[in-house]
Amino acid sequence: MLPDNIGIHMNIRFTHRHLVNNKITSHKMRNAIKFFANLLMDKSVYDELHIDIEFVTGMLKSRGHEGESYCEDWENDSKYRWFTINIDPSISRKNILLTLAHEMVHVKQYAVGELQETASSNITKWNGKKIDDDVIDYWDLPWEIDAHGREKGLYSRYVKNEKTEGKAKSNRKSPKQPSVQTARC
Ligand SMILES: [Zn+2]
Repeated sequence: MLPDNIGIHMNIRFTHRHLVNNKITSHKMRNAIKFFANLLMDKSVYDELHIDIEFVTGMLKSRGHEGESYCEDWENDSKYRWFTINIDPSISRKNILLTLAHEMVHVKQYAVGELQETASSNITKWNGKKIDDDVIDYWDLPWEIDAHGREKGLYSRYVKNEKTEGKAKSNRKSPKQPSVQTARC
């Protein structure tokens, strides 16, 4: 992974900036989103993505989950590129990153055409096959098996990469200085 994801041109916006979480900077979140996108999709796909991040206070309580992702241009039939990811700001930094990883798997599923919305709200197409969300248990939905199966691996690779980059940065920052005694006054 290149430092600061150079060469990744996704359009990522933070709406309601005043609600931006104090556990992680928007810069770090942007980097994480790009990092996950790079592991999940081809450049030709992620370079065209537009992602809005919204912090939704109380979502965990009212809707029972920490994050959600929506495809904003699902009526376009096949090529989905505009997304909104909602995150509950009360969750920990680790859970924010895990949630971003999970939701980016869903973004990938829409963007590469694995997951498609239909005119009926309960019917979703997975690789062309119609699935009734009201009949299949959440944990058996193929797109959730994919997202839950990948979130931890994406997260741990991000954390490992962050540590490696942090070390490389601190090495760059501290070139060997000649040892000179100085007096402070
Ligand atoms: Zn999910």
